[in-house]
Amino acid sequence: MPARICVVGALHRDLVVRALRFPQPGETVAGEGFALHVGGKGANQAVAAARLGARVTLIGALGDDEWGSVVRGALAGEAIDLSELVTVPRTHTGVGVITVTPGGENTIVVAPGADHALTPDDMDRAAGPIADADVLLVQGELCAETTLKAMEIARNSNTFVIFNASPVGPLPEGFLRQIDMLVVNKGEAAELLGEGARDVGPAGLCRRLASLGPEKVVLTLGAEGALHFNGTELEHAEAFPMTSIDSTGAGDAFAAALGVLRAEGARLKDAVRFACAAGALATTTPGALPSLPRRDVVEALVKRRGRGART
Ligand code: ADP
Repeated sequence: MPARICVVGALHRDLVVRALRFPQPGETVAGEGFALHVGGKGANQAVAAARLGARVTLIGALGDDEWGSVVRGALAGEAIDLSELVTVPRTHTGVGVITVTPGGENTIVVAPGADHALTPDDMDRAAGPIADADVLLVQGELCAETTLKAMEIARNSNTFVIFNASPVGPLPEGFLRQIDMLVVNKGEAAELLGEGARDVGPAGLCRRLASLGPEKVVLTLGAEGALHFNGTELEHAEAFPMTSIDSTGAGDAFAAALGVLRAEGARLKDAVRFACAAGALATTTPGALPSLPRRDVVEALVKRRGRGART
């Protein structure tokens, strides 16, 4: 039976501008190209998990505007259960304004719109798919109280909770104790830990995060791979070397891949290695959804590296 993943998260229309460099505050720079994509971490991780072979239910909200229809239409082309998606009247669909530079780095500003109209009561109404899933995948783009409610439902039903703390915002009391696995990059880790964590190395970040509640911590390190900590052992997973052109979607491919392999019962070490391959592949194509790799491509990369070949 395929892994069952429930994603509770944001759905966006992404406006992506390529530029030679990021503007300074108050400055305007000329862009090199423009594209419109479907995004939002909820949508991205749901699509990524479906392409990796999981049975996926996506819980989220869209505005009653043209972009809401576009996002719904794009997701309808993927093998995802969309029956829990709600349309919020008189509200715009979430928007991400993204700038990408030639090295593949990005900056993102989000106007959440309908994403922030999702409430804890909506989670109660969608409790069935959360409870039925092997893994709940949540991120930092919804109101934290709504995400916390989804996590509580999951924990009460033995659904494994993976929280990708991206972006980092204020969290209600007890939030981090509801998480089975925390996935963050270095910047997010330092923000979560607050004052004084900027100079802490990756291993220290993992240990400190675990002390806040999550049983397992996975720290993504971009082109340097990822570090994982299970409460006792700390291990590094090497990156799969790639010619990166746009890192948008790498973190989402990584988190979804981790969720799928966890739902399939893989060891943490193997799940992180598979996730590193998925993340690396996502950096080779512009945009988020178009870059999310399929299962056979990720497996082929893992096997190739397993035989010692460079990519
Ligand atoms: P985020 O996008 O959330 O900041 P990262 O940039 O750390 O996350 O990317 C997630 C994962 O994707 C990394 O842990 C790594 O395995 C893979 N990855 C990202 N960028 C590269 C790259 N340039 N080369 C190879 N792998 C990469």
